[in-house]
Amino acid sequence: MAEPTQPATVLSVTDLTPHVRRLVVKPQTTKISFQPGQWVSLKLPVGPKPPLNRAYSMADPASPNGELTLVFDRVPGGLGSSYLFQLKSGDELLLSGPYGHFVLPQTLDRELILIARYTGLVPMRCILKQVFFSNIQTPILLIAVAPNVDEALFHQEWLTLAMQHASFRYLSLIAQNGEVEAVEKTLPMLTSLLKEQPKVMPLLCGTKAFVRPLRAYLMEQGYDRKEVKVETYD
Ligand SMILES: Cc1cc2nc3c(=O)[nH]c(=O)nc-3n(C[C@H](O)[C@H](O)[C@H](O)COP(=O)(O)OP(=O)(O)OC[C@H]3O[C@@H](n4cnc5c(N)ncnc54)[C@H](O)[C@@H]3O)c2cc1C
Repeated sequence: MAEPTQPATVLSVTDLTPHVRRLVVKPQTTKISFQPGQWVSLKLPVGPKPPLNRAYSMADPASPNGELTLVFDRVPGGLGSSYLFQLKSGDELLLSGPYGHFVLPQTLDRELILIARYTGLVPMRCILKQVFFSNIQTPILLIAVAPNVDEALFHQEWLTLAMQHASFRYLSLIAQNGEVEAVEKTLPMLTSLLKEQPKVMPLLCGTKAFVRPLRAYLMEQGYDRKEVKVETYD
């Protein structure tokens, strides 16, 4: 059954980097209960045939008062993200959800390797918050790729987490020339990691140009397609 669409109020607008913004929104009718890694569908009043549906992952786990934290980058010429960038506190949005299967595996018996580029880090943040809140001790490595130093999303948070939790490692990469370079820089790390420990639980998120070559590489290394969890944004 389709999830009902409901209005939500924008409670706050915060710039996280020069091109990434956070909106905290509150659904007005029904509280949305979701698992970290899931997303909501926004129905935006723009484009040739409105509504324009755009998906956004939650950046924070479910809160008792039902607020949702959405984080997105401004895509040059992007209709959906440009609309979101002009919203102010008090404005309304239409949304439905939650949706998606990009959630923590039920059995956490191997190291989790989270690999994401740019706003692909949004569901990873939500998942990591759940892991640390639940005191799960599974070792985790996060490889985060940013298009430049200023756009290294959540960098300070990851550093703090790495200092607080011995089970968490964070590797930060900068790839200024898009997804191809991002893949080229990520692959050697992944290769040496797989040498250290043959079987891990990989979760990948970002645009297809980033995620697909990494999944293909993991499958060449003997991973079953289902063992590699992916969320693609485009
Ligand atoms: C399940 C799911 C969850 C998502 N969660 C998020 C999220 O938490 N944060 C977020 O910023 N986006 C997220 N997205 C992407 C989002 O739905 C939009 O596609 C994005 O904001 C671009 O929409 P647009 O209308 O502005 O651009 P469009 O006009 O649709 O242009 C999209 C093009 O811009 C490029 N691009 C650059 N950055 C992105 C990006 N972040 N996502 C998609 N394409 C991009 C791609 O090459 C793509 O072809 C998610 C998408 C899916 C399917």
